[in-house]
Amino acid sequence: MQSFSIGVDLGGTNMRIAALEDSGRRLETICTDTLVNRGRDRVIDEMCAAITQLADKFGASHDFAGVGVGVPGIIDLERGIVCAAPNLPDWANYPVKAQIQERLGTPVVLENDANCAALGEKWMGAGRDISGLCMVTLGTGVGGAFIFNGAVWHGMIGMAGEIGHMTVTPDGPSCGCGNRGCLEQFASATAIKRMAAEDAAAGNAPELARAMNENPEFSAKMVFQYALQGDPVAQQIFNRVGWALGVVLSGLVDALNLPMYVIGGGVSSAWEAFSPALIRELRRRSIVFRASDPADNHVSEKKKTIVTRALLGGDAGLIGAARLPLLSADPPAMVRRRISA
Ligand SMILES: [Zn+2]
Repeated sequence: MQSFSIGVDLGGTNMRIAALEDSGRRLETICTDTLVNRGRDRVIDEMCAAITQLADKFGASHDFAGVGVGVPGIIDLERGIVCAAPNLPDWANYPVKAQIQERLGTPVVLENDANCAALGEKWMGAGRDISGLCMVTLGTGVGGAFIFNGAVWHGMIGMAGEIGHMTVTPDGPSCGCGNRGCLEQFASATAIKRMAAEDAAAGNAPELARAMNENPEFSAKMVFQYALQGDPVAQQIFNRVGWALGVVLSGLVDALNLPMYVIGGGVSSAWEAFSPALIRELRRRSIVFRASDPADNHVSEKKKTIVTRALLGGDAGLIGAARLPLLSADPPAMVRRRISA
């Protein structure tokens, strides 16, 4: 009998729950319209109802391997507690894992959402045939994750992968983390908007300034559209994004020598605008990248450092969450019975 698992992607605004076979084939997805800001208990009620619905539906024809939940925050894996989640304020220090397990009577694995996205890309996306990868997620902030030999590298206190807070310029813009000149201050959607506003305020960017005045919803995506249309200031902003990513990735490539570095998150849709500067910077700075340059015909295919955009888009975290119960170091016995509501 084929087994299946259920993944939950708890986003900043809403939640998705999907059942996937262990082959990766998606069976069904439920999107709830519950806003996560309506409170923890309501969200968990809806989450458990959707999980039960999927488990009942597919449990008759499949073995059920368990539930994985991706949470946008710092997680204490041993205790199954969300330590801090800026977008989920009432979840801090709440025993999420125990609460969900109690309601469902089935094993639950929690994981940070950036790690889930990396697991998703490793399983069904850009890193399918790769044993290890580093993923950088460019969204409102910048997240990161490492997969070594197929497993997430959590680090001693579970905080590994804070790539967004690695230093690009020691005296650069101050960051919420306490450091200055973090990658997040150059390569996030927030940073792109800020750089556009700075250029507009300095009088260097008449087109962007006009767009900003006319549109209160001015966003990083609009800066990308201006870059595509040939606006030199917008293009320069994406060159800085690529440069900053290149500075940080060159350090990671030299230190880790992993076969793949995946760039995901909403900002990665501007790949064509920032990737030339990123690759240029890698080639300039990283001795390991030059020795494994994918553009070098003397380097064999298996020894190339691949730097690529993510393939799964917004589904990476959901797919990775469903992967969690299948990877669990001490796999729970398959739950053959159907969950009763
Ligand atoms: Zn920082």
